[in-house]
Amino acid sequence: ESRFDQARFIPADAIFALTAQYQEDLSPQKVNLGQGTYRDADGRPWVLPSVKKARESLFEQGLNHEYLPIVGLLKFQQATARLVLGAELSAELGIKVATCQSLSGTGALHLAGLLLRACQKSPPKVYIPEPTWSNHHQVFGSLGFPCESFKYYDHERNDMDIESYYSTLERAEPNSVVILHACAHNPTGLDPSEEHWRQIAHLMKARNLFPLFDAAYLGFNSGNLDEDAFAIRLFIGEMNMEAGICVSFAKNMGLYGERVGCFLLANKSKQIAVNTQSMLEMLQRSEVSNPPAFGARIASQILGRDDLKKMWYADMITMSDRIRSMRNALYDHLVSLGAPGAWEHLIRQSGMFGFLGLSLEIVLRLRGLSSIIILTWRVKEKYHIYMADNSRISIAGLNEGNVEYVARSIAQCLQ
Ligand code: PLP
Repeated sequence: ESRFDQARFIPADAIFALTAQYQEDLSPQKVNLGQGTYRDADGRPWVLPSVKKARESLFEQGLNHEYLPIVGLLKFQQATARLVLGAELSAELGIKVATCQSLSGTGALHLAGLLLRACQKSPPKVYIPEPTWSNHHQVFGSLGFPCESFKYYDHERNDMDIESYYSTLERAEPNSVVILHACAHNPTGLDPSEEHWRQIAHLMKARNLFPLFDAAYLGFNSGNLDEDAFAIRLFIGEMNMEAGICVSFAKNMGLYGERVGCFLLANKSKQIAVNTQSMLEMLQRSEVSNPPAFGARIASQILGRDDLKKMWYADMITMSDRIRSMRNALYDHLVSLGAPGAWEHLIRQSGMFGFLGLSLEIVLRLRGLSSIIILTWRVKEKYHIYMADNSRISIAGLNEGNVEYVARSIAQCLQ
């Protein structure tokens, strides 16, 4: 008998499992469109020039490996608040913003959940768009929040369902939490317009709903960080709302594995901010004691030095431009190959992901899976293209060398 008799077997995370499957494929044609990590024009991971420079400068300064404070590197947190809120709003709010360095965006969401739970008698309802990033339900579900999905996307029209969004907010339970993708909605690549955001903010304020922004793609989406931070600044500045922001530097600085993130909380008063700040410190202490230093030091160098910040802005343009051009190339190839169906939704979307709208059967066939149903097709051609089950593709996995193959394979599968 074991005390773990009750342990259940949990299937591997779908996207990480897909990467493993891709790695096992020996075909030189294989294409990984699963995991959302940027790749350069040759399909390789890209260390941003600004990051390289910041790293060199850190080594020149002589690194040590001391602990950071419990809430992390202060300069990094201050620079993050200034970056995300903009100089004017962050100066205006001053210490009304509580900040805590986190284990990337996931850690920031987790901290936000811990704080929300610790500050309420019972955990409030968390509204999550459907579809969404697969980890939202796990993070908030594992903390005991009742999670409710609401319709974000209309699969028939391949477009956002803004009316459904509004009606969810109109009847939402007061004091609940709503997860908002600050920009580059994952997986659909479709964001509310400025007009939509205004209406969302009004509806949320009217029902006293708490906006929790998941900000994993600031600057990475459009290449312009201020543009990508529009919704955050609207809610906190113009609408004067209390809001949480879960910032990740995984994508926009390419610091995926270094786990660089920050939780920002815009509070209603300085006193509340002093209290929430102290609670974040207590919660962080019991979770991770203190956050990792290296990545935060890199980010802090970049955000704190004009020359490096300028380089970083150029790097974000490099990444978002390449993604945009690959999105257009895929669209052009699909159209010129006469792939059955409409593809305009692809170029209406933005950000790292494209939501193709293919059936699971086609997705599996593109993966070259030899299930019984697929066997009959194998005599034709076996494909080596890996994408999520819901046909979300990471556009960054496309390049000049494989985009035509991907389009042709999709077209052939649909014929
Ligand atoms: N939120 C969204 C929407 C994401 O797509 C991701 C990563 O893919 C994250 C948060 C968090 O990533 P990380 O914890 O690596 O910062």
